[in-house]
Amino acid sequence: MGTPEHTPDIIFTRVDEAPELARLSLLPIIRGFAAAAGIGIGVRDISLAGRILAAFPDYLTDSRRRSDDLAVLGALVKTPGANIIKLPNISASVPQLVAAIGELQGKGYALPDYPEDPQTDAHREIRARYDTIRGSAVNPVLREGNSDRRAARAVKNFARANPHSMGTWHGTSKTRVLSMPGNDFCANEKSATITAGQAGDARIEFVAAGGAVTVLKDNWALAEGTIADAAFMSARALTTFLARAIEETRSDGTIFSFHLKATMMKVSDPIIFGHAVRAWLGPVWETFGSAITAAGGAPNLGLGNVLAAIDSMPNGAAIRAGIAALPRPSLYMVDSARGITNLHVPSDVIIDASMPAIIRAGGTCWDETGARRDTTCVIPDRCHAPIYDEAINFFKANGALDVARAGAVANVGLMAQKAEEYGSHPTTFEAPAGGIIRIVLANGETLHAHEVEAGDIWRACTAKKAPIDNWIQLAIERQRLTGAEAIFWLDAARAHDRELIRYVKPALAGAGVAGRFLILSPREAMRRSLETITAGRDSIAVTGNVLRDYLTDLFPILELGTSARMLSIVKLMNGGGLFETGAGGSAPKHVQQLQAENHLRWDSMGEFCALCESLAFLSGSKGNARAGILGAAAELATQGILDHNRSPGRTAGEPDNRASHYWFARYWAEALAAQTGDAALAAHFAPVAAQLAAGEAAILAELGANAGAAADTGGYYLNDDARAAAVMRPSATLNAIIGQGR
Ligand code: NAP
Repeated sequence: MGTPEHTPDIIFTRVDEAPELARLSLLPIIRGFAAAAGIGIGVRDISLAGRILAAFPDYLTDSRRRSDDLAVLGALVKTPGANIIKLPNISASVPQLVAAIGELQGKGYALPDYPEDPQTDAHREIRARYDTIRGSAVNPVLREGNSDRRAARAVKNFARANPHSMGTWHGTSKTRVLSMPGNDFCANEKSATITAGQAGDARIEFVAAGGAVTVLKDNWALAEGTIADAAFMSARALTTFLARAIEETRSDGTIFSFHLKATMMKVSDPIIFGHAVRAWLGPVWETFGSAITAAGGAPNLGLGNVLAAIDSMPNGAAIRAGIAALPRPSLYMVDSARGITNLHVPSDVIIDASMPAIIRAGGTCWDETGARRDTTCVIPDRCHAPIYDEAINFFKANGALDVARAGAVANVGLMAQKAEEYGSHPTTFEAPAGGIIRIVLANGETLHAHEVEAGDIWRACTAKKAPIDNWIQLAIERQRLTGAEAIFWLDAARAHDRELIRYVKPALAGAGVAGRFLILSPREAMRRSLETITAGRDSIAVTGNVLRDYLTDLFPILELGTSARMLSIVKLMNGGGLFETGAGGSAPKHVQQLQAENHLRWDSMGEFCALCESLAFLSGSKGNARAGILGAAAELATQGILDHNRSPGRTAGEPDNRASHYWFARYWAEALAAQTGDAALAAHFAPVAAQLAAGEAAILAELGANAGAAADTGGYYLNDDARAAAVMRPSATLNAIIGQGR
């Protein structure tokens, strides 16, 4: 990319799956329009395949090497000029990583295999490289700022005028949240703010019962003002709780559903998931667990993996019969038609998607017969579970949210510099034996110490001072701009939140705005926010990183029917802007549909909203007047898509993603032709608008010509550029108007 002077005005991202397919159709339109205004749009590759190729230059021939675009963007986000539109990318699980490597090898890239069980130094080195790509590897690099997520006004108005379906809540619903009574992360949390004398490189140590010390992590930089936490979950207490939760669910006749976030809390939560799988198998695991392990069954990888191992065993049928005979409640189904349960794969049930889906559906989920019934939502740790419990209580008492009248909950989230990355980073450990796990500071002082038993899950994490200060200022700014009620969702009874409150209170008082903010525990804040939006007013949730993630799915799913239409802005701390598209992921099911019947149901509303914000930011930050005009016109085009219902349909034969892009281009061109701020620009776009209108029938016919037939983009993780472009840009008429080959 070179020096910042050569950085294009806006960078768009090449990603994976459905948003990548949508990009192939949308970006040429954006580039064509921007070029007419003298605005350059670059592309950087953060796809899984791109990141794999960038990590192994030494295995590839010169022509097949890829630049490390994530590193380039990681540097760019620290500069004031950054203006990046970031689409969702795959946070790869091991099976996805292995599949992507296989596809690339099949395409002639001489990559090494993923070493599942590295035994040599060479294999360990390869594994370490692949592991930097695995899981949530992109967002923590790019999110050099805090998060501002809300629904654009047009999107919110549309949802109120066209309410989506909501399940019915009954006061008699048995649905509830069940969490551990104690000895969880929440109960065992310790937190402190690092003083000047304590700052420096700390380490995390395990002290065995006999006194032998093992360093688990070294050179852990803790700067002055950093809030540093440590907590652990007792494996023994978790096991007892899970057995009880299964039994209680069985006796009250509800469906057992288990919710966590194995993708984000990528070290702790697969372990917790493994405990749930073992608890579900109960006495069968006690009897056959070691034999199943020997046959390759790993509960942390899910029940699906364990059952596959059992089926490979000579006595597999008998073990299966033993499982079938266990007294168990119904299990929440991910796909009842194919027999895929909640416990099959750790990343199939992601709490921020699964809990809102259950709440939206009146507190019900699918059982093995495909029927919807009440459920016991098992969320072991109590740090954040109370928000769902309170939402369920609220809807039981008040009925489902009235979407047509409801106000909105926006979010200002603490996220910058890996704030509150619980259970996900190299500061999470499973205790190897009984002993002590402790944080030892640079000055030799022990900051936190916990006595642990073998298997306990210990985690530490930090929130740095500058991001916290920035987050509070962002909250003050949003409250001032909107006048909405603003709540810091912080629990004075929790160690970490107490430290945060010590930052928040003086900062609010110093700015003279203490009276405009509430500080409430997450449970109280949930109740208050639901009361506020039920009354038709808006609220701002000012939260830490995890609640940012959870709430920016929950409220949009209730208010808008989807989180994909959210505006998601990262205010970069050094002045740049990162504009994320929606709060959803990369929708693999949409790719399957495109491949089978050439229909892409992906909704690009998130990209439209991000584009408007990015152009407005370019106008403000660089005084680029034409960007302002282009952005204002793009807002009208977005409104046009909603007003005229031009979003993609779900089934083949209906207008899809590509048709919605045509309409976006047309409304955008019409708005640019009609604006009076820049006569030359209006004159340029008047004929474009006229051609798009005249070509309507031909363009829509060309876009839909292959609907229903199979489509081949030449790959899954790495498309063939020409074939994918042919699938995603099938209208010669449209391509000729907006410009070929962009
Ligand atoms: P997902 O991609 O959000 O998909 C779940 C469902 O949400 C989709 O099947 C689709 O429902 C709906 N959806 C999401 N975005 C949509 C859009 N723009 N238009 C229409 N429908 C949309 O969630 P997932 O299956 O849990 O995750 C898939 C992948 O995304 C994973 O690899 C995950 O790591 C990644 N992910 C990335 C980010 C990020 O980069 N910020 C965030 C979350 C997840 P229908 O099928 O009913 O149409």
